[in-house]
Amino acid sequence: MSGRKQEHRQRHVRVAVIGSGFGGLGAAVRLRREGITDFVVLERADSVGGTWRDNSYPGCTCDVPSHLYSFSFAPNPDWPRTFSGQEHIRAYLEHVTDVFRLRPHIRFGREVRMMTWDNDELHWTIETSQETYTADVVVSATGPLSDPKIPDIPGLDGFPGKVFHSARWDHGHELSGQRVAMVGTGASAIQIVPAIQPRVGRLTLFQRTPPWVMPRMDRRITDAERWLHRQLPFTQSVRRGALWGIRELQVSAFTKRPGELGPIEALAKANLAKHVKDPGLRARLTPDYRIGCKRILLSSEYYPAITRPNVDVVTSALAEVRGSTLVAADGSESEADVIVFGTGFHVTDMPIADRVTGADGITLAEAWKDGMQSLRGAAAAGFPNWLSIIGPNTGLGNSSMILMIESQLNYLADYLRQLHILGGRTALAARPAAVAAWNRRVQARMTRTVWNTGCSSWYLDAAGRNTTVWPGTTGEFRRLTREVNLSEYDIVRAPVREEVAG
Ligand SMILES: Cc1cc2nc3c(=O)[nH]c(=O)nc-3n(C[C@H](O)[C@H](O)[C@H](O)COP(=O)(O)OP(=O)(O)OC[C@H]3O[C@@H](n4cnc5c(N)ncnc54)[C@H](O)[C@@H]3O)c2cc1C
Repeated sequence: MSGRKQEHRQRHVRVAVIGSGFGGLGAAVRLRREGITDFVVLERADSVGGTWRDNSYPGCTCDVPSHLYSFSFAPNPDWPRTFSGQEHIRAYLEHVTDVFRLRPHIRFGREVRMMTWDNDELHWTIETSQETYTADVVVSATGPLSDPKIPDIPGLDGFPGKVFHSARWDHGHELSGQRVAMVGTGASAIQIVPAIQPRVGRLTLFQRTPPWVMPRMDRRITDAERWLHRQLPFTQSVRRGALWGIRELQVSAFTKRPGELGPIEALAKANLAKHVKDPGLRARLTPDYRIGCKRILLSSEYYPAITRPNVDVVTSALAEVRGSTLVAADGSESEADVIVFGTGFHVTDMPIADRVTGADGITLAEAWKDGMQSLRGAAAAGFPNWLSIIGPNTGLGNSSMILMIESQLNYLADYLRQLHILGGRTALAARPAAVAAWNRRVQARMTRTVWNTGCSSWYLDAAGRNTTVWPGTTGEFRRLTREVNLSEYDIVRAPVREEVAG
């Protein structure tokens, strides 16, 4: 066999997984458990962890308790806190990578630049920043919150100081005594503000819309608890079950009866009143939309931090940068040495969609021009054998994304089983009618949810449609993704190759 052919064969895999966050690593574990070892995990960075590698900003922690925000198949009796910090979650994912022997499958420094479906060969050609692979099946686990978004602000290029996004923290730049502008008041910003406020000279917070903030019941997990979890592993399952159950009970208020969130709103107002005594500031920090419409943020330190004398809250968006002067939309001006953008991610316009070309020769971004939609959050019409982890409408407003990821792994496992049973060179192509029917049901349910009560949030796309959040319980999603319903797919078989005699 010639060298080129040999090389080509080496680079064909049964499954290519893109990304090595919770989604990609979970997929890799699941593939091995299903007896599939012919796979690669392609990761653009040089280590695993995804979200928990990239978000190393001061104060970064999860906002779902650690015993629920972890894999059910890899419980960790040693979580140090009820809401553990980024470094511990990252270490957990490194540990999972080692324990499940995933490293031989992972190819770091491989940014996937283009994936193209081949209708004749029934495989994907995957061009990376290094080599090209072909794969029968692609599992896209590139993350819903992995590509930072920085707004296009006039004059930003001419800013003489330092500029970075919360998900790309510049640890080489010392903030002590500096005038720092924090743009945004989302989940990352409210963790960053209390972490940096004591050491910066001046902190100017640009708030376009105030968030609802509830106290975070964080505490150290005691040695006795950890001992108990190690000695009697079922106690971890009980703990996880309780954390899960409480959140499942909250779902109907979010998805069917937003009015029931009124008492929670009253608690959030009381939390604000407890920490912010100045009525003027309190008014500026009080949201004018139903709690839950945007993600409810958890912090016991945010309000105390913004009442400190070195913090200014500008209740307006950053509109323009003139040298080191920052001009807000309300015309107010402030000086800064550093601008930190806590302005979120490309969620409904995820860059990976521009990099996938399906069976009809169009990209996923083009197929989704009227909004993202996939069958059971996984399979888009026109993209055979391409499944996403955390695809459209699989996000959660109140619980752990790991629950949704594990449901999607069940679906992936059954998908691969079905392909194996069908045998030969076969692909499953989601029927457009099935995708549309699924999406219609999801969108019909969306109308009653709190996320559609009139606020603007990153859950909504440019047309105002919620293509990100799942409007049900995680239990329901688990049931709906337990197995692949073949009637929702066309079975595509490769054309039989004519044998050439002689
Ligand atoms: C600061 C922060 C806090 C969060 N806290 C919580 C929480 O408390 N609870 C919760 O449920 N969820 C939380 N989330 C959501 C979180 O993103 C998910 O829970 C989960 O980590 C997503 O895992 P993932 O593997 O799908 O994506 P990611 O962790 O984002 O991993 C995606 C991976 O794909 C790689 N990748 C992307 N594009 C390419 C490409 N073209 N080629 C190769 N590799 C690529 C990336 O480098 C990355 O490693 C948080 C998110 C953020 C940003």
